[in-house]
Amino acid sequence: MQRKMKGTYDILPSESSRWQAVERAIRRVSKIYNYKEIRTPIFEQSELFHRSVGEDTDIVSKETYDFKDRGDRDNTLRPEGTAGVVRSVIENKLYAADIPVQKLYYMGPMFRYERPQKGRYRQFHQFGAEAFGSNSPLLDAEMISYAVSVLKSLKLKEVTVKINSLGDSQSKEDYKIALLNYLEPNVKHLCKDCQTRYKTNPLRILDCKVDKGSLVLKEAPKPLDYLTKESQEHFDNLVKYLDQMDIAYTIDKALVRGLDYYTHTVFEVDANVSSLGAQKTLCGGGRYNNLVNDLDGPDIPAVGFAFGIERLLLALESIDYKGDAEYIHLFMMILGDDQKEDAAKMIQRCRLGGLYVDTDFLDRSMKSKFNQAESHNARFVAIYGANEKEANTINIKDQESGIQETIETDQLYTYIMTKLMEPSSKCETCEDDDCDDCS
Ligand code: ATP
Ligand code: MG
Repeated sequence: MQRKMKGTYDILPSESSRWQAVERAIRRVSKIYNYKEIRTPIFEQSELFHRSVGEDTDIVSKETYDFKDRGDRDNTLRPEGTAGVVRSVIENKLYAADIPVQKLYYMGPMFRYERPQKGRYRQFHQFGAEAFGSNSPLLDAEMISYAVSVLKSLKLKEVTVKINSLGDSQSKEDYKIALLNYLEPNVKHLCKDCQTRYKTNPLRILDCKVDKGSLVLKEAPKPLDYLTKESQEHFDNLVKYLDQMDIAYTIDKALVRGLDYYTHTVFEVDANVSSLGAQKTLCGGGRYNNLVNDLDGPDIPAVGFAFGIERLLLALESIDYKGDAEYIHLFMMILGDDQKEDAAKMIQRCRLGGLYVDTDFLDRSMKSKFNQAESHNARFVAIYGANEKEANTINIKDQESGIQETIETDQLYTYIMTKLMEPSSKCETCEDDDCDDCS
């Protein structure tokens, strides 16, 4: 038997409705914020990720899936979405479009060669957003609000938004010098990776999973204390806008994020639920004002975020989120081969009218047919046998009200539609009978 690759998994039919519900919520919120979907390839030239994500990030140095194609080109399965989106914006000159601020979102699989565990896989999915063309902190605030709204729309309340600022290039440079000076006598106490980072990319030391929590790092200088005047103003404005938008946040002075390209705002959204274990970060993002230019595009500022969808679903387990209820409108029970022609016609009529319909293809017993109707969560069950054929009628039972009736066969579609239009005592949001909680 062939088995799936380590760190991958199948989304089985029993789980796909939860995925679809989350995807639908994401699309709905994206519409509210006026972000449009972009779909870029799953593989790109390896160089793109080396140049954007950064050579000495964990992602590029340890986690990429690299392969040569038959033309001896270096390809990489995308480990994240921003690089491809930025490449596409530049290549398609989206920045020159009539709309001066391009607001884009994406959803899809990403690939990282990591040690698989709960909330960490080798193929996983991200939903991310990027906005190009404005350095306004109002856009940073919008991004954070957008991310929070996705969670709120899924009724996930136990979330923490952490924000920080790295400032512009000047602030980052000043901070880097201060950090190097501070760490110089302590480098030997850091992990091996951090000893390399000290030389190549000292900012990343603050994001190290090994040294996190050590006294050396706790007492290290913080980027917020090295902001230039303009950078401080940017951050102050962001905070003011978030306050006005009623978005709760905490300032986490040690937050730097794992990617090289961030400037100014960085943020993370954590879910405070036990089902996530150590993988609490649902979303990470920030501003990256130099990346478009670094990738040979014009000098255009940008800001974005990325959610891990698996982690989002794990977090939703804690609030018993079931996704959309699975159901069909009609399960047709055909009793006897002679009735199949008429039944095929009736089923077709109902489906053409948009009803969700299924039937039994295995000529099983009545009991089995009833079981199938129940597993499909059918609202109506119709029985069509020799007697019904004779009388040109069909027997139909409404599983919700328990009412059973015999109607003419050509009335089937209209009958079901009429019943579906009648007001139900069930709540449209949670599907409970007599719910008072949902508005
Ligand atoms: P972590 O610190 O958990 O490794 P990261 O900093 O590598 O996260 P990002 O590159 O910022 O993560 O990706 C954004 C989001 O994508 C993360 O917050 C997380 O929800 C999700 N994510 C990242 N890597 C994985 C993975 N291997 N499996 C599942 N989700 C992931
Ligand atoms: Mg990671």
